Amino acid sequence: MISVAEAIQIIRQQTGPLGAEKVDLPRALGRVLAQEIVADSDLPPFDRSQMDGYAVRAADTTSAPVSLRIVGESAAGKGWHRQMNEGEAVRIMTGAPVPAGADSVQQVELTHELKDGTVVELLAPVELGRSIVKQGDEIKAGELVLRPGVVINAAMTAVLAAFGYAQVEVAKRPRVAVAATGTELVSVNEQPGQDQIRDSNNYSISACAELAGAVVQRLPLIRDEVSLLKNQIAEAAKSFDAVVTSGGVSMGVYDVTKNALKELGAEIFFERVALRPGKPIVFARLPSGTLFFGLPGNPVSVSVTFNLFTRTALLAMQGANEPVLKQETVVLARSVKGTMDRESYLPSQLMTNDDGELIAFPLKWGGSSDFVSFALTTALAIIPAGVKSVEAGSLVKAIRLP
Ligand code: AMP
Ligand code: MG
Repeated sequence: MISVAEAIQIIRQQTGPLGAEKVDLPRALGRVLAQEIVADSDLPPFDRSQMDGYAVRAADTTSAPVSLRIVGESAAGKGWHRQMNEGEAVRIMTGAPVPAGADSVQQVELTHELKDGTVVELLAPVELGRSIVKQGDEIKAGELVLRPGVVINAAMTAVLAAFGYAQVEVAKRPRVAVAATGTELVSVNEQPGQDQIRDSNNYSISACAELAGAVVQRLPLIRDEVSLLKNQIAEAAKSFDAVVTSGGVSMGVYDVTKNALKELGAEIFFERVALRPGKPIVFARLPSGTLFFGLPGNPVSVSVTFNLFTRTALLAMQGANEPVLKQETVVLARSVKGTMDRESYLPSQLMTNDDGELIAFPLKWGGSSDFVSFALTTALAIIPAGVKSVEAGSLVKAIRLP
């Protein structure tokens, strides 16, 4: 049995990037950036006024109140491009270029115009450079502003737009086939008969995979028969980058997933990880090159193993620079038990208390089949292997679920 860290390392070694494609900017949100984004201009591109007011020379205002002659107007999109001299002022708007000769902007609230708008009275002196952002102060042309490997968020779309990236090179989305195995399963639109349950894993796995950037197809439910499973996997291997199944990876007579993989000639990298919940988890490569994740059947184990392992692979396929969920330090709200031979990932809710500490409340739950409690989970609190119990108030690591 290998550790979670070893399993993640193997997955990273076995997973390469799928390559890039160009998309129109409005479609780039949530995708992994696959190119360097370089500023094509200074920002601001000219000395820019931050206020509505008057462009002046600070030295002319030291003995304010003072009257200055208005010689022009500079508006956003329509500047005043002459030389402003001593004793003069230019009416200026937010976002407009500051004229040559002016070195400060006095905000309109501290002024009033006289004599039909030919003179402005400044009620207070203005300090040198006030309310002006100098050309290139924010970014210089040629500067690298976004690096490949980041997941594009809403704020980054502004950066892309500002520097003219109407199209953006992003990582290809992994194509993922999802299949639930289990003779007991019926689909969501069926009434379970005797000994049957509705499949929920297909939907939670699809949801997790989509959050990780994948394009997902759900395959039909598969009964616990090697030949059926083998055919479905072989078919999916032809056109998908990864196949993710649930169920059938434990030690029961009808746990047929590993047999199907062996008959297909898959290379199995691991099949048990020292993890609770989620010990039986298969990671393999099919002869076509398609990666295979055989997740356990229990819905909670599915979410834990997906987010630790499958998600990492899907993000690595997209060249993400942080494919592994980050660990944070949290305070345990109540004492919990660990497991001697396995690392525990306990479903928890994260909250900050009045002292600003990040607190993990491990949920009282009924085990790895209790997916109703799990629906309230926002994070997994990590208890190292070999630790009998951890007291309330102790510091532990936790990962937030996407
Ligand atoms: P298994 O790993 O196949 O032994 O399944 C473990 C438990 O998870 C059993 O109680 C299964 O009925 C349940 N289970 C397996 N697959 C699913 C699924 N797709 N949706 C909901 N529960 C499942
Ligand atoms: Mg089963």
